[in-house]
Amino acid sequence: MAGTEEQAAPEAAATNGHQAGQVPVENPATGEVVAHVPNLSADEVRDMAKRGRAAQPGWEALGFAGRARVMLRMQKWLLDNAERVIQTIVKETGKSWEDAQLAEISYGANAFGFWAKNAEKYLGDEKVKSSAVLVKGKKLMVRYRPLGLIGVIGPWNYPLTNSFGDCIPALMAGNSVILKPSEITPLTSMLMLEGLRECGMPENVFQVATGYGETGAALVDEVDMIMFTGSTATGKKVMQKAAETLTPVSLELGGKDPMIVLSDADLERAANAATYYSMQNSGQTCISVERVFVEEPIYDEFVAKVTEKVKAIRQGDPSGGAGTVEVGSMTFPKQVDIVEKHVNDALAKGAKALTGGHRGSGKGYYFEPTVLVDVTPEMDCMREETFGPTLPIMKVRDAEEAIRLANDSPYGLAASVFSKDVGRGEAVARRIEAGAVCVNDAMLNYSAIELPMGGWKASGLGHRHGAGGIRKYCAQQALLVSRFNMKRDLHMFPYTKKNTDRLMKAFRFLWGRGKRD
Ligand code: NDP
Repeated sequence: MAGTEEQAAPEAAATNGHQAGQVPVENPATGEVVAHVPNLSADEVRDMAKRGRAAQPGWEALGFAGRARVMLRMQKWLLDNAERVIQTIVKETGKSWEDAQLAEISYGANAFGFWAKNAEKYLGDEKVKSSAVLVKGKKLMVRYRPLGLIGVIGPWNYPLTNSFGDCIPALMAGNSVILKPSEITPLTSMLMLEGLRECGMPENVFQVATGYGETGAALVDEVDMIMFTGSTATGKKVMQKAAETLTPVSLELGGKDPMIVLSDADLERAANAATYYSMQNSGQTCISVERVFVEEPIYDEFVAKVTEKVKAIRQGDPSGGAGTVEVGSMTFPKQVDIVEKHVNDALAKGAKALTGGHRGSGKGYYFEPTVLVDVTPEMDCMREETFGPTLPIMKVRDAEEAIRLANDSPYGLAASVFSKDVGRGEAVARRIEAGAVCVNDAMLNYSAIELPMGGWKASGLGHRHGAGGIRKYCAQQALLVSRFNMKRDLHMFPYTKKNTDRLMKAFRFLWGRGKRD
C-alpha cells in the first residue's frame, strides 16, 4: 500500500495466512483471521506524509463549498452502503449489529452533514471589536487557516466514530489527513477511504496508515497536529513524543464514569439506563457507565431491577445480524484479561457477582455481563478503567457521599445523575468533575456534535465537537488592517510631554470615569 499511489481496499488486502510485514485482522467473535493489512514502516509513513502535504493545497483551494460537496456525497454513500459498513465493523470488532448501526452509522451520517454545514460558520473570518484605544478605527479579524497535515490515531472500540469520525472536521477545515487505525480494527477505515474515493475525494488527501503502535509513533513525527484517542498511558507517550517537535496534540483518553442514582429517581428508567450504558458495545466505550452510586433507600430495589435486566441480555456471536444479540464479543483480546482481573480482585476482596463473573468458554473473546455489589472504592473495578461488560454498584448514605466518591478519581470524562427533580439533578451534575454530565440520561451528549466533548484531569486535553472540535485543526491568525492612516500616530517617536499628557487624558476618559464601590 505505502509507496504506491493507491491504497488497497479490505478485500484486496485479505489473505489466508500470516505474512511478513502484514497485520492479521481477527474476528474477535470467532477467533478467525479475516484479513491482513500492511504493517507500515516509518519510511513508508514519511512517504505518505509527503504525498499528503502535496495534495493539501488543492484540497484547501476547493473552499468550504467544494469540500462539503464531497462530504455530503459521502453521507449518502454511507447510508447506501450501510449494510456493508456494518458487516465490516461487526466482523472486526465483534459488536452487535445494533451497536454498529446506532453508535457508528448514525454518528458518521450525522457528522458528515454537520461538518459540511457548519465548518464555515466555525472557521469563517470573525470581526472583532476592541476596547484598546490604540486600535480605534482599525479592522480587526480572527482568521483560521488549516494546519496542513493532520495525524489521527484511533482506538479499536469505535472504528468509524472514534477513529474516522475525527478525520471529518480535520478534512472539512482544509487539511489532508493520515489516519492510523488500531491494528485490531483497520478494515472500517480502509472502507471509508474507498467510499471517499468514490465520492470524489482527491487522491492522497485522506490516507490510512495501517500498522502497529510503532506506525502510530512514526506518524507523530511527520504531521502538524495529532488527534489521539485511546488509553491515558499511550496518550502520555504521544504527548511526550509530540513535545520533541512542538506538535500540538488533542487527547481523548480513558474514563471511570460514575452514575449517581438519587432516592427520588425514576428507578425503572435509571435501571434501564445503567444496564444499557454499561453493557452496550460490551462496555468498551470511553464514556460508558463504569461505577454506580445509589442512595440507601432505593439501593435494594435498584440492584434487583438491574440484575434482572442484565440477566436477560443475550450475548454471543453477532454475525446472525440485526436483533440476534444485545452484547457481542469483546474486541481486544487483552481486554478480557483486564476485565477478569478487575472482577477477581473485587470477588477476592469481598464483593459478590449477582450475575456473570466469568470469561466465556470456546471460540472468540467474551466476558459475561456482570453485576457486582458489596464493592468498595479501593477495588480495581471502582478505580481503574475496566472497559468491559461489568457494573459495580455501591450503596451511599446520601448525595454528598455520592458526589465525593464520584470525584475521587484521576479521571473526569463523563458522568450521569438520575433524579425526578431535574433541578436537584442539575445541581448535583454541576458539582461533578467531568467534561460532560447528563441528567436522567447518559452518553447521549456525544451524539450532539454541537456540544464540546473532552475529558478533565487524566481523561484528556482539548475537545472534539463544537467550535473547538474543528478550530484545533487550524492555526489562528489575528489580522489588523489600518484603513485610515496618519503619517505619524500619536504614540510614535519622538515622545513629547504634550502627546503623553493627551494620551493620559484619553485613557482617563475611556477607563477612569464614574464612581467605583
Ligand atoms: P492504546 O491507547 O494503546 O492504543 C490507541 C491507539 O494508539 C492505537 O491505534 C495504537 O496502535 C496506537 N499506539 C500505541 N502505541 C503508540 C505509540 N507509542 N505512539 C502512537 N500511537 C500508538 O489502546 P489499547 O488498544 O492498548 O487499549 C488499552 C486501554 O486503553 C484499554 O484497556 C482501555 O482501557 C483504553 N482505551 C480507551 C479508549 C477510549 O476511547 N478512550 C479506546 C480504546 C482503549 P495499536 O493498536 O496498533 O497498538
